[in-house]
Amino acid sequence: MTTRLTDREEEFWGAMQRRDSSYEGIFFVGVKTTGIFCGPGCPARKPLRQNIEFFASPSEALHAGYRPCLRCKPMNATGNVPALLEELRQKIEDCPSRHLRDRDLEDLGIEPSTARRQFNRYFGMSFQAYQRARRMGSALAAVRKGSKVLDTQLDHGFESPSGFREAFAKLFGAAPSKASSVHCLFARWIDSPLGAILALADDSGLYVFDWVNRRGLEREILRLREKTKFAIVPGEHPVLDQADGEIGEYFAGARVSFTLPMASRGTDFQRRVWAALLKIPAGETRSYKDIAKAIGAPTAVRAVARANGDNYRGIIIPCHRVIGSNGALTGYGGGLARKQWLLDHERKVADRQ
Ligand SMILES: [Zn+2]
Repeated sequence: MTTRLTDREEEFWGAMQRRDSSYEGIFFVGVKTTGIFCGPGCPARKPLRQNIEFFASPSEALHAGYRPCLRCKPMNATGNVPALLEELRQKIEDCPSRHLRDRDLEDLGIEPSTARRQFNRYFGMSFQAYQRARRMGSALAAVRKGSKVLDTQLDHGFESPSGFREAFAKLFGAAPSKASSVHCLFARWIDSPLGAILALADDSGLYVFDWVNRRGLEREILRLREKTKFAIVPGEHPVLDQADGEIGEYFAGARVSFTLPMASRGTDFQRRVWAALLKIPAGETRSYKDIAKAIGAPTAVRAVARANGDNYRGIIIPCHRVIGSNGALTGYGGGLARKQWLLDHERKVADRQ
C-alpha cells in the first residue's frame, strides 16, 4: 500500500524511465492505448506519458479493465507465484472471454478445490472473482467508451444478452444500458496486507468498507441496494481515493484514526454504538459491557454486540477493538486472525507515538 498515488505520479514516471526495480510492487501502470498493465520495470517499449494511469495494486488495474502484461507479468510482483496459479492465470489470459469451470480445470489435470484455495490465499480474491473481474472490467470499459452493448457482450464471451445483463446487474446493480442514468455508489477493491477490501462511497461519504471475504458482506450489499435503489458500479470517487490513501497510511503505521466522511447509516441505536466505538483509543480494547455502559444502556450488552457485528465499515469504525469481558477475542466478521493482527498492529503503533 502507498500513500495517494496521484501525489506520486511524477516520482513513478521517473522510476519507469529508469526501470527502477526498487519500485516493484509499489505501483502498476495501465497503458490506455493497449489495455495492458505492467509493473514499473517492464522491458517493453515505453508508452507516452499521456497514455498511462497508475494503480496501487494489480486488482485495481484488473477492475479498471486492464489485463496483465505477458512480458513483465505484474501479478507476480509481490513474490513468487506458485506454478499452479501462474498456469491458471495464463489459461485465463490465453482466452479472457472464456469461463473456466471446474470441469475445464480437471481436464487440465488441476484439482479445482486446491486451485480455488491457493488462488484465494495468493491473490486475495477467488478464482471465479478474478475471472469475473477480468471480464466485467473490460466489458464495462467498453460500454463506457461507447461500444454497443451487444458488441461488448459478444466480445466478452457472455452467451446471451440476458446472461451479460445478469452478470452485470449481479455485480454492480445496474443493467449496462442504464449505467449512466441511475444514482451510483462507486465501488473500489483496495488491496491491503491482510487481503482485499471493498469500499463503496458517493458524495455523502463512505457506505461500506470491509474485507471482500467478510462473512455477510454480499447480503449487506444486497440489503443496501434494495433500500437505497442505488446502482453499485466500479468507479472513481474522491472519497474512495481518500479511503485508499488513509488505509494505506494505517497499514504503514502512519495513522490510527481516519478523517473520512461517513454516509449516514443504521438505526439510532446502531449509530450510538458506532459512535462509542470511534472513541476507543487505538492500542486499547473495550468489552461489550463497557460500550453498553458508555451509551447509557448498561443492560443492552447483547444488542451492543449485534450492532458491533452489523458494522460494515471495519477498521474505520474500529469494531475490532471490542472484546469479551474475559479478554477473549470473541467474534469478528473478517475472522479472528485479522482481529488479532489489527490489535497487535495498533498497539505497536500506539507505543511508538
Ligand atoms: Zn509489461
